[in-house]
Amino acid sequence: MPEPLLALFAAAYAGAFASFVGVVIDRVPSGRPLHGPSRCQCGTPVRWRHNIPGLSWLWLQGQAACCDATIPRHLWALEAFTMLLAGTLAWWSIPAAVAVTVVWLTAVAAVGVAHGRKSAVPLQR
Ligand SMILES: [Zn+2]
Repeated sequence: MPEPLLALFAAAYAGAFASFVGVVIDRVPSGRPLHGPSRCQCGTPVRWRHNIPGLSWLWLQGQAACCDATIPRHLWALEAFTMLLAGTLAWWSIPAAVAVTVVWLTAVAAVGVAHGRKSAVPLQR
């Protein structure tokens, strides 16, 4: 039986998690700390309403609110994919073991994105 409220909660939680993973893949390769507010490429702090996982990118149409900077599409894709997957799993009451798998898949996808962007993850040969 579908669980709409649970699906909404799961999607929101997954979006927050994916947003944090996006912060990790954005900041760690450049040596920036994980704590502190999100900032635009121009240095302006991002307002809370411009930092809602999955929704703000759509609302701002991929453009920063403070300047002409582009918000990377891969960050939105990571959040949207994770939210959709978690919401779907919760909607159909898929067991928690599957939810854990979603978390791991998100982390693996983030590492893949980070490696693809900057070769930030050293690979052993
Ligand atoms: Zn800006």
